Amino acid sequence: MNSPELSGMRAVRKVEGRVTQMLTSSMAKWLRSSGCILTFHRAVPAGEWEKLPNRNFYLNLDFLDRLIAKLILNKWKIVTVDKLLCALDQGNDGARLINFSVDDGYRDTWEHIVPLFRRHGVPVTLFITTGIPDGTLPLGWAGLESILAQRDSVVLNGETIDVSSPAHKRHWFTKISTDWDAGDFSRQFAAFCQTNGADAVRLREEQALTWEMLETFSGDPLVEIGAHTVSHPRVSCLTANAALHELEGSAERLRSRLGVPCRHFAFPYGRSADCGARDFDLAREAGFASAATTCKGVIRSGQDAFCLPRNTINGAYQSMAYVNAFLSGLAGIGARVLDRV
Ligand SMILES: [Zn+2]
Repeated sequence: MNSPELSGMRAVRKVEGRVTQMLTSSMAKWLRSSGCILTFHRAVPAGEWEKLPNRNFYLNLDFLDRLIAKLILNKWKIVTVDKLLCALDQGNDGARLINFSVDDGYRDTWEHIVPLFRRHGVPVTLFITTGIPDGTLPLGWAGLESILAQRDSVVLNGETIDVSSPAHKRHWFTKISTDWDAGDFSRQFAAFCQTNGADAVRLREEQALTWEMLETFSGDPLVEIGAHTVSHPRVSCLTANAALHELEGSAERLRSRLGVPCRHFAFPYGRSADCGARDFDLAREAGFASAATTCKGVIRSGQDAFCLPRNTINGAYQSMAYVNAFLSGLAGIGARVLDRV
């Protein structure tokens, strides 16, 4: 290769290097100037972790404790959704603001999660499905988990099954819940309880957050309460009227029962197939100040408040590496590239 060609290639490489450097530094700057919402459902003390049949639905409280401490140490400010939106409205780009939201309304929210956030002196947002404290949702999944966690064997389809080890509990939870999900989960759960002499109502009561527990949060500036529908449906599958009833009904019930503002909403399931443009408009029409999804991503100024991204952390994503990917926005970019939103 002659020298003019060589020098030409060197020049091209130099330009490429500069462009890459510029893109990398502007991308890093862009990623830094953002806020983030992390969401999860349940948390248990470390001693109960091993026996959980459905770890993907839980966080280990020790991990959550370390995570909160580390975020505070690294100068992240943990805020309510109200504060996060307020900062964006005032022109703040949301940098290093983070919100934790806990969905549905299980007993461990009252027993473990809120007390942990209070100990750290930082707020947490609860998106409550009002059918849980109202006792109108059977919570069959949670009931199945309890039965498998507490017993060494169960009877299923006329056969006795060994569920004595943690590995067996996890295996059978996945198998049974997948089979039942394909049909009528509630009916199958009721029949399973009858066969195994389990009290479905008592199991539900052991898992559900009650109105009395929720009352202990009202007026606490560290607990922000938002709505998460009445019966936890996939909102995109409902008619507009039925969807609006779920959105307005849950907010109204929370406001009247607890005397709280209830300005924010989170869509059940929350991925792009579960809520879309029509549903974001309905949330606006229902009078909310924001609505959140579970599409991964970060929040920066200009963010549409009615499709807030949230990043799910649970047993499958329980590591600082995952959390760092969420905070940087890389997980959201990755999900969009892979079309997993
Ligand atoms: Zn939910």
